[in-house]
Amino acid sequence: MTQQEKNFEGSLKIRLYNTKSREVELFQPYFAPRVGIYSCGMTVYGYAHVGHIRTYTNSDVLRRLLEYAGYQVTQVMNVTDVGHMTSDEDAGEDKLELGARREGKTPWEIAEFYEDHFFSTIAECNITRPEVISRATEHIGEQIGLVKRLEDNGYTYKTDVGVIFDTSKFGRYAEFARLDLEGQEAGARVAVDDQRRNPQDFALWITNQPNHIMQWNSPWGRGFPGWHIECSAMAMRYLGDQVDIHTGGIDHIPVHHTNEIAQSECATGRQYVKYWFHSAFLNVDGRKMSKSLNNLYTLDDVRARGYSPLALRYLFLNGFYRRDMNFTWEALESAQRGLARLWGACAELPAPTGVVIPGFIEKFESAISNDLNTMNALAVVSGVLETKGPPESKASTIYKMDEVFGLDLANSRTRLSDFWRLRGLRPEHKMQAESMADKREKARKNKNFSEADRLRDRINNMGFQVEDTPQGPKIVPMFDFDFAAMRKPVCGHCGVDEKTGC
Ligand SMILES: [Zn+2]
Repeated sequence: MTQQEKNFEGSLKIRLYNTKSREVELFQPYFAPRVGIYSCGMTVYGYAHVGHIRTYTNSDVLRRLLEYAGYQVTQVMNVTDVGHMTSDEDAGEDKLELGARREGKTPWEIAEFYEDHFFSTIAECNITRPEVISRATEHIGEQIGLVKRLEDNGYTYKTDVGVIFDTSKFGRYAEFARLDLEGQEAGARVAVDDQRRNPQDFALWITNQPNHIMQWNSPWGRGFPGWHIECSAMAMRYLGDQVDIHTGGIDHIPVHHTNEIAQSECATGRQYVKYWFHSAFLNVDGRKMSKSLNNLYTLDDVRARGYSPLALRYLFLNGFYRRDMNFTWEALESAQRGLARLWGACAELPAPTGVVIPGFIEKFESAISNDLNTMNALAVVSGVLETKGPPESKASTIYKMDEVFGLDLANSRTRLSDFWRLRGLRPEHKMQAESMADKREKARKNKNFSEADRLRDRINNMGFQVEDTPQGPKIVPMFDFDFAAMRKPVCGHCGVDEKTGC
């Protein structure tokens, strides 16, 4: 440890809920100012949906906060491209091969396609691309090495399936997820392999499936790794034996993360992860997301309905990462309106000077560093906009906070026009409405109020409202208006179709 590392104190004390202790703790990484984060990534056999986007948005807010506080973050995310079984148990059909057969492609083509889709999805949602993206198929050697260590340490046995981890040899196995092992054993858990010593035991290396397309040589014969081993192997390869933060969805607590802890700690004899960060579920219309309910909405669905990807981010920031959230299109609409208003307000601000308005940053930091209270932190932004301060300083204050929010507020003008284009609004519509607003202004000055009213109605018919501001009338598009239906050019005089108009 260097002197600098020993003396590092993040300017901001961050308090985080740790699944391991079930308590909110003061965050202190192993070797400040460096922080290693391992994030469970995608199994690339299908599209990322809004539930995935929520999980990765939450971990992105965490990494942005750490960087805001001065830490040097290295985030590693795996890509599960080997294909593992359809359930957490090792039975059933391989997800990747299932997808390959469905689409008439090889598993490698499937993996590549969905991996690209996933990373473009998270990029559009302003989710920081991890420093290291590690594919399971490119780390087979590391996985075999780890299984070998576990075998040498006496934690494995062999069955017809392959090499199995003996969970009864790891005394703390039930601790992390507070599992009731005896209750489970007594229950009607499906026996997937009658040679297994304990119901929780899981495969590290599978050798009994010759029809599986992806196979590699190993000390135990040709086969492929179990799912859990890849995360332990790749986390240790890139972040060392001890990882500061591990992120994922809460559904991973009882099996996947429990097994990761068992594998890693039995191999190294040391604590694997210091802080476990888990995101709660996202339901859709009050129900669990599932293929059969046809509610696995993707970012393409979100865009097709006229919402910007960042509206999703704004929606998620308005909830608490540890609380389940219910996704509805109405909720997204109201999030989109809120964000468009915020972009609208920020678009009016001049360039920032770097001088912040006192008081607000402190409020923001105390909310966000308190286990990521994004709702309260966002409320501070409205406070800044409402305050009477120099607009340049308002911009500096808000953009500083946006380093953590990631709503791209510094590019509000572009974001806002992209959003309205998504809703079918074309620049010429707005220009026409603006020229009508000028005429209306003249009519009002000439006290020709009936003409002014007539023009206002025309402007409304084109989907705009006239807001009278101290700087003069402002044209604002209406959220409820169907701009996409206005395909034909409109008459600049009356706002009706050019041919049939006045
Ligand atoms: Zn994982």
